[in-house]
Amino acid sequence: MLDRQFEALVAAASEPDVPGGDDAAVESSSPDRQTSGVESSSPDGQTDGITFDGLRVVRTAAGFDFETPETTASGLDRAELRDHAADSPYVTNWYFWEWAVQAHDSPRRAFCRKLEGASDHTHDVPARYDALSDGLVTEWGQLRIEARLGDHGSRVYEVRHVADADADAAALDSHDDPLDARQIAKTDETGRYRPLKTAPSLARGWLFDDLDWRGVAQTVESFYPATVANWYREQRGELDVDHWRDTVTRMTGIYGVVRTWDRGEGYEHVNWVAEACCDDSQCLKRREWQYDDETDLDVDGGDGQFPCREPCSVVVTAARKWTRLEGEQPQTYEFELTPSEKEQLEAVIDAVADDRTDEIREADVDDGANRYRARFLRAKLFDDEGNLAGVPTNADD
Ligand code: SF4
Repeated sequence: MLDRQFEALVAAASEPDVPGGDDAAVESSSPDRQTSGVESSSPDGQTDGITFDGLRVVRTAAGFDFETPETTASGLDRAELRDHAADSPYVTNWYFWEWAVQAHDSPRRAFCRKLEGASDHTHDVPARYDALSDGLVTEWGQLRIEARLGDHGSRVYEVRHVADADADAAALDSHDDPLDARQIAKTDETGRYRPLKTAPSLARGWLFDDLDWRGVAQTVESFYPATVANWYREQRGELDVDHWRDTVTRMTGIYGVVRTWDRGEGYEHVNWVAEACCDDSQCLKRREWQYDDETDLDVDGGDGQFPCREPCSVVVTAARKWTRLEGEQPQTYEFELTPSEKEQLEAVIDAVADDRTDEIREADVDDGANRYRARFLRAKLFDDEGNLAGVPTNADD
């Protein structure tokens, strides 16, 4: 325990209202005094002292009381208090969270507490320290976040791609600026732009190491904007959800056209949108929005750790296109296909929808979406204008 940690302990146990330490970081404008660990004095002059994560320290007329789940001592002078506090993980844990971090009622603090199982009391402090010594791992979408114990009870964090869990750190591109994550998140492994930041297509090969609590939260937010804040709101029962109807009703300009899609009976079209875009295979968020306040969609919202509170811009942009396409009148076309050709068209649509085309081997001609099979079908069935079976799309053509 450092001298300044002990002095902070004495001050917090003694004083009714103590400002943060030299490395304090207060994010909340209204810290919760009940959980700050520094409470106001009682009418008889005895301070309420510190109550935090199993530690209780209070100054009384007879000296200091020091209490943890394993130790109880009262009437201590400063030297005795120091002896009790010296090797106590409860003290450095209190110092880290209540003196250094503070930031009560903030998503970042809650998120970092979650990373070590403190928010749901999965581990008491000694067990938490043991686990942190080995490295406590949390997965957040495709991020692998490891929390470790730093010097004197501080915490250090590392973030890498889940698929790089076993990679040698020296083989990964090291970053120390959390904002670098925005650049990494822009493109996938093949360099294609990622319009949806929570798509499961994050590129591998990078590492953010030696982050502090603010840095780890900022890195996560740079990869997955708003996921920490929305998770936090959901934990507190404060997630404000904008359903499909709310969202399309507000649309104006070029997106206003989506409203027209919504004027028909039912909501089946919204089921199709959610199935197409919000499935776990396409997005790591858990869709919480429904058709409207009273009408749930039939499609499952997924198992993501962080909630989606409204249709995103990718969905809205796609819906704009579908609104136009779905405005067309059905036509009757007549083709002749063999049963295998019909099944092959279905297999091609499936493969594209599931993004499997790259996985289908050239030699695997049993797969209807095999490239040679598809090329054979095109050679056989398309005319020079690209019409299937020579049938024009519009009867007048
Ligand atoms: S609307 Fe769907 S695709 Fe968009 S972020 Fe939410 S869950 Fe993901």
